[in-house]
Amino acid sequence: MIIIMEPGTSEDNIQRVVKTLEKHEFKVVLNRGEVMTVIAAIGDKRLFDPHSLGSLEGVREVKIIQEPYKLASREGQQEDTIITFDNGVKVGGLERPVIMAGPCSVEKDYQGLLDVAYAAKEMGCKFLRGGAFKPRTSPYDFQGLEEKALVFLARAREKTGLLVVTELMDSNDMPLFENYVDVIQIGARNMQNFALLKAVGKSTKPVLLKRGGAATIREFLLAAEYIMCNGNKNVILCERGIKSFDQSFTRNVLDISAIPVIKKLSHLPIIVDPSHATGRRYLIEPMSKAALISGAHGLIMEVHHDPDNASSDGAQSLSIPQFIEVAKRLNKLIGRIDYDNRMTKQELGIK
Ligand code: PEP
Ligand code: MN
Repeated sequence: MIIIMEPGTSEDNIQRVVKTLEKHEFKVVLNRGEVMTVIAAIGDKRLFDPHSLGSLEGVREVKIIQEPYKLASREGQQEDTIITFDNGVKVGGLERPVIMAGPCSVEKDYQGLLDVAYAAKEMGCKFLRGGAFKPRTSPYDFQGLEEKALVFLARAREKTGLLVVTELMDSNDMPLFENYVDVIQIGARNMQNFALLKAVGKSTKPVLLKRGGAATIREFLLAAEYIMCNGNKNVILCERGIKSFDQSFTRNVLDISAIPVIKKLSHLPIIVDPSHATGRRYLIEPMSKAALISGAHGLIMEVHHDPDNASSDGAQSLSIPQFIEVAKRLNKLIGRIDYDNRMTKQELGIK
């Protein structure tokens, strides 16, 4: 980190900062200018809160250079994390990007869920999404079918072989999830529910962690760090749009730049949710393409057997025929990306 001292501050003040840093085992380099002194400190700041230096007399600014997360960081692990599921499906690295599809909420029409699942399977998807416990803004909105929905999802998995992704809101439900679910989703609203992050950190199931609506990339990666430092290294990150001032035409703003930024900072897979990012079904295809071109390891999108009568998020859900058309075009693009990835793998000598 870099500590910039106030112009003309006393030698005592400078030495106090130096001593504090040395006490925490930082290597200190002093740069004395005509007017001000800049102190460079090299060491592991994870064991020390650098902001505490800001309260020392004569300190103008503390700048952090090393990212505060460790396990999620490329500095700690250079190779991409690739998550391998029981059925051989892989997510991350140079693997073929995956599509996860399914309704916002699992509803009482089981056949509707099954129709979506079969369409997803036919289009080459490996994952079925569907909310059982729903985080709704209003307590009067549909809250999800809970365990019944998990049973429906598990039955759909039995029929189709698709892996089930669904959101956990309460760590008391962990035993149910261990039973029924393949990927535990942590929703945007719970990205900083640290107790929940710790709980899924103890699970053996991969976690799909969604970016909070107002979370910085650093906060997002620190949330992943919570899961990882509790023992679970299988984290898939998901960019799903961040809040902005203009909600007239889109629900959120899809931060496409987060994909290459996160790939630079972290080895974890990152996928994109164009449904929650935009709130509009016509934007799913163009945003999916943008995400894939920008290097996303996959997509998660909402598909409903009857979007106009969906219990939640119908406006951002594709109907089954729309999904089939969109998926055909996305598969074409994924095929080209997959070809490039295979060529890259060959160049890198990766099997
Ligand atoms: C969802 O995927 O069902 C969901 C509620 O998304 P988010 O947490 O991104 O709002
Ligand atoms: Mn939804």
